[in-house]
Amino acid sequence: MGFVTGFLKFASYLTLIIFIHLQPFILLMSYFSLRALTKSYDSHAALQEFSLELAKGEFVSIIGESGSGKSTLLRIAAGLLTQTSGEVLLGGKKIESPAEKLVPGYDEIKLIHQDYQLFPNTTVEENITRPLLNYDESYRKQRVAHLLDRLGLTPYKDRLPKQLSGGQQQKVAIAQAMAVEPEVLLLDEPFSHLDAIQKRKLIYELKELLREMDTTVIFVTHDLDDALWLTDSLVVLQKGKVTQKGNSKALCEQPKSKYVARLFSAINALPDREQAFIRPADIRIRTRGGLVGHVVEQRFLVHYNSLLIRLKEGGQLWEVDDPARKYQIGDRVYLHIQEEKVLVLKS
Ligand code: ADP
Ligand code: MG
Repeated sequence: MGFVTGFLKFASYLTLIIFIHLQPFILLMSYFSLRALTKSYDSHAALQEFSLELAKGEFVSIIGESGSGKSTLLRIAAGLLTQTSGEVLLGGKKIESPAEKLVPGYDEIKLIHQDYQLFPNTTVEENITRPLLNYDESYRKQRVAHLLDRLGLTPYKDRLPKQLSGGQQQKVAIAQAMAVEPEVLLLDEPFSHLDAIQKRKLIYELKELLREMDTTVIFVTHDLDDALWLTDSLVVLQKGKVTQKGNSKALCEQPKSKYVARLFSAINALPDREQAFIRPADIRIRTRGGLVGHVVEQRFLVHYNSLLIRLKEGGQLWEVDDPARKYQIGDRVYLHIQEEKVLVLKS
């Protein structure tokens, strides 16, 4: 008997020691995997060999212009659209496509659209309760009350969706998706109908809630600004292909293509150098030397004046920031370029 207990104790110590040593690797391991996903509609490829590995609780934003394949990607990731090739794995388990599964989709992976798709004739509370109808009543009540509270919806719980603002409706859609405690949340341009202030507030609240629940998140948008508010980790999608990945600083300072560079600001082509560009904020306006030009347009923006300047040599139009708001239409200006800020980009 003593031997058996001793052996069991030893075995549990051993397991514990192995676990402690392996834990950093287990935590780093990929949790949600999108592997070489390709989707063709007829002969047109909407998505080409898209791959992304996410750890549990990681947030990533995917930015791409309209038609770049964002919605296609998320629908495949949620198991709601059948890919032409490639696979999706969650915690090592294969996510089956609608072609393989009788009822498409998974409770573990929730997709939120820009149109909220709420049930119009039921209250906010009932909308959030609906996905939980098969759950135990006391859990259901507690879960719904928690979500209403966390998203600031308690005062509106008895209203119908049409009696809410766009931001509030989007919150209801989020609460509905979060009701079943999904492991992965896929957000398809969910803030498009909100104004800038509503949007920032909602992003802030959402971030807290998702962190608290350790949810893994993919957010897709055409708007870089929205992406930067939500995450620091970015993937740029162009015509169904990944063109660059990295954090926001790296992408802004070392873009590989004009497409990526233009997500952050306008870029001006240097007249005498091929494929060399400068951002409006990286040009200094001085009283002599440098490139000569004339101010042809001036716009008052929140943090600076934006000038349109016609270069004397070559006649090109450049966008230049004037943070001191000093220059007027007609002024002659001398433009100095910060050499270390010159971007060399492929088209
Ligand atoms: P995004 O969400 O980035 O705007 P989508 O994933 O919706 O892009 O679309 C990517 C490309 O696939 C577009 O060129 C679009 O026209 C095309 N596409 C999307 N859905 C279909 C479909 N059901 N049939 C044919 N082409 C489609
Ligand atoms: Mg879309």
